[in-house]
Amino acid sequence: SARHAFGAIEPGQHISARIRQPATLDMIRETLATARNGQMEYTATLPTESVYMVRMIPAFDEKDHPSFYVLIFRDVSESRRIDRMRTDFVAELRTPLASLRGFIETLLGPARNDSAAHQKFLTIMLEQVTRMSRLVDDLMSLSRLELKARLAPEDEVDLVPLIGSVCDALAPLAEDLGVEIRQSLPEILVSGDRDELTQVFENLIENACKYGQEGKIVEVRLAAKPREPIDISVIDHGPGIPEDQVPRLTERFYRVNVESSRSKKGTGLGLAIVKHLVELHGGSVRAKSGGPDRGATFVVQLPLPVVQRGETADRADSSDRLERRKA
Ligand code: ATP
Ligand code: MG
Repeated sequence: SARHAFGAIEPGQHISARIRQPATLDMIRETLATARNGQMEYTATLPTESVYMVRMIPAFDEKDHPSFYVLIFRDVSESRRIDRMRTDFVAELRTPLASLRGFIETLLGPARNDSAAHQKFLTIMLEQVTRMSRLVDDLMSLSRLELKARLAPEDEVDLVPLIGSVCDALAPLAEDLGVEIRQSLPEILVSGDRDELTQVFENLIENACKYGQEGKIVEVRLAAKPREPIDISVIDHGPGIPEDQVPRLTERFYRVNVESSRSKKGTGLGLAIVKHLVELHGGSVRAKSGGPDRGATFVVQLPLPVVQRGETADRADSSDRLERRKA
């Protein structure tokens, strides 16, 4: 694993060929000079971002001279990730809690007898509490998903009515935002779990309406080629997403613009849930940005429907089954 993380190092080659962070090299130099244990944190960015706890320990011979040194790299990326998640979660709850407290104090104090203020503040407080409980629910369902090691769901799901009812449910929101949702979907059966796929498309189409509002039109397209995985794209024409932020979108709580998302009642957990659900289906999610102001596209790729005995998994077959089911 050391070779995988840092590349091979030949005997006699200088350590700085592999480790470039000056502070780590200083620590190594210092340990060589003093023969005292050294310790420090090392962040590697390639091949993936990893955080290591590096320790350097001299091994002494019988005359108490250091005869060689051991450099130990302990990968602490995972525990750092969990720490960050915990901090993010606390920060996420702290803001609405502080504002609830402010409102309660005002209601008990200056606005005690102001019934118009009561109405207004209680409405905002209810919104905040609703968002907080959604945050907790979303986090719980994420943890459940992470623990769930299971086979891909295999119910036959017809995507057209499924996406249709997602769009119906989102119609009031779209209308408020002045967005038109267009669908172009050939009939297609996939194997999956109806509720989970509903959740996937709900979040993607809702995001496209909320964050791509300026683009006015949101499209849901399905590309189905025989014997190839199925691509469902949710396309908007809004501001898009800066290229360098795309890989981080599926991290919990990650939002391109925290204030804008909060004001839209977002928790930043939607895409993390989408990614998990799609992966449980054996599929993948890709985000593409068309460049500044060219909109964003999210593509969900789902594997071909399960092949049943004596059948081949191609499109004709899928529509056959659809006909049979309708009959
Ligand atoms: P929730 O889904 O829990 O309501 P959310 O929408 O803020 O909250 P995600 O769905 O995970 O969270 O999205 C994360 C962030 O990605 C959003 O806050 C937004 O900044 C960005 N984003 C998502 N979809 C788009 C889009 N179509 N165009 C531009 N930015 C987007
Ligand atoms: Mg969302």
